[in-house]
Amino acid sequence: MNATPQADDCLFCKIIAGEIPSDLVAENERAVAFRDINPAAPVHVLVVPKRHEPNIAALAAASPEDLSALFALVAEVVQQEGVAEHHRLLFNTGADAGQTIFHAHGHVLGGTTFTER
Ligand code: AMP
Ligand code: ZN
Repeated sequence: MNATPQADDCLFCKIIAGEIPSDLVAENERAVAFRDINPAAPVHVLVVPKRHEPNIAALAAASPEDLSALFALVAEVVQQEGVAEHHRLLFNTGADAGQTIFHAHGHVLGGTTFTER
């Protein structure tokens, strides 16, 4: 039995399970970070809880421990990528907000100057 809830037919669950390759940046017990396949900035890393929840609010409600571990991994990633002092952290929720993969994840964006909100 897998202690981490996973979903069938979820791309990020398959990446976490190692069934689909990814460019892994960092990992802890509860979350993984890998490079976005279609980067929107010089640094574009996705931080993804191993637990399958559809969005960040659902993750917060289901498991504060997983939420906390996700943000601990963000802190590691921004250090490792050299953008600790200058980056964006973005969570899309819902198709109308641009969410395309319905497994909670944050975008760590950096290495450039952002001019738009
Ligand atoms: P969102 O639009 O917030 O749901 O973000 C999904 C992100 O996942 C997009 O930025 C995609 O470029 C990215 N993505 C899709 N497939 C892969 C993949 N196989 N490996 C890494 N990133 C991916
Ligand atoms: Zn999933």
